[in-house]
Amino acid sequence: MKKLLTLMMFAMATSLLSSPADAQDQKVRWRLAETWPTNFSLFSEVPRRMAENVKKMSGGRFTIIIDSANKHKSPLGVFDFVSSGQYQMAHSASYYWKGKDINTLFFTTMPLGMIEAEQTGWYYFGGGKELAQKVYGQYGMRYYPGGNTGNQMGGWFKKEINSIEDLQGLQMRIPGFAGEVLAKVGAKPTNIAPGELYTALERGTIDALEWIGPAMDLDMGFQKIAPYYYTGWHEPATELQFLVNEKAFQALPEEFQAILEIAMQEAAFEMAAESYYENAVIWDSIKQDYPEVQVKTFPPEVMSALKTATEELVNEFEAKGGITAEIIKSQREYSKKAREWTNISDKAYLNNLSE
Ligand code: CA
Repeated sequence: MKKLLTLMMFAMATSLLSSPADAQDQKVRWRLAETWPTNFSLFSEVPRRMAENVKKMSGGRFTIIIDSANKHKSPLGVFDFVSSGQYQMAHSASYYWKGKDINTLFFTTMPLGMIEAEQTGWYYFGGGKELAQKVYGQYGMRYYPGGNTGNQMGGWFKKEINSIEDLQGLQMRIPGFAGEVLAKVGAKPTNIAPGELYTALERGTIDALEWIGPAMDLDMGFQKIAPYYYTGWHEPATELQFLVNEKAFQALPEEFQAILEIAMQEAAFEMAAESYYENAVIWDSIKQDYPEVQVKTFPPEVMSALKTATEELVNEFEAKGGITAEIIKSQREYSKKAREWTNISDKAYLNNLSE
């Protein structure tokens, strides 16, 4: 009875706080900081489409202004912007915050980890959503998926990689956790600003680099100077993110909360579909315009060394215990089942098709 009373009081309080009348006369104006520079093709379209839909669905009562990195000058400062409430929202990628909190790493993609369909299943139904809120809640923020690039290519190489020896001392632009994995097998990972990548590869400051996939790589021009395009291993399903300040979210009328959540999810879906389409179409044009480009796959001994190095590093994280161990356990248990299903469904289907 006491429990029922409490529940009823809670329901009344909630309906008072968010009565529909509230939203009718309320005008809300938010600001979003994106990690990307102005016009960063597929990525920049995501927050803009979301903001456009929020405006339409709210009849112009809820507007979101977007500041690109060219304006706010701090591509990797957006985590703090939203956590502190300086901006209500951001569009970025969770793995950029690994230095602040290792638990943020697991929500973008993992080297040799889940493919997009597997990972999306984990996030929405396999406990990912709850774990992400647990991690980001500590910083006064909400996490939402922000669009997937799909499987990223392993990168552009000037020389072929035929053995582990070929990786020794190889200077490659490959940031983050995948870079740590590569360092463990003998390569020399570096991080270079996007604007300097072409020159670095052309002049031999680096021997190889990874960027994204055909759709985003073409304009960078790497195909003109590095003929070997390796298939991916390090970012099988890169999911971008929206960050939302918790207090700002709670202050929204319920109607606007729903509008915002649906607009974010729709924009994320749109990007995943567009990435796939653009990669297919642009890869076809690269093949025609640059016939010297050759697609390569790392040999089994390299793949096996990368797998061992990844597992060792993940085991080190797991030993930290707490939420880190909880996230790793959740991903491991689910992805085992998900991969079995992938193997007898999509993989079996593709393997059975004749060319
Ligand atoms: Ca990449």
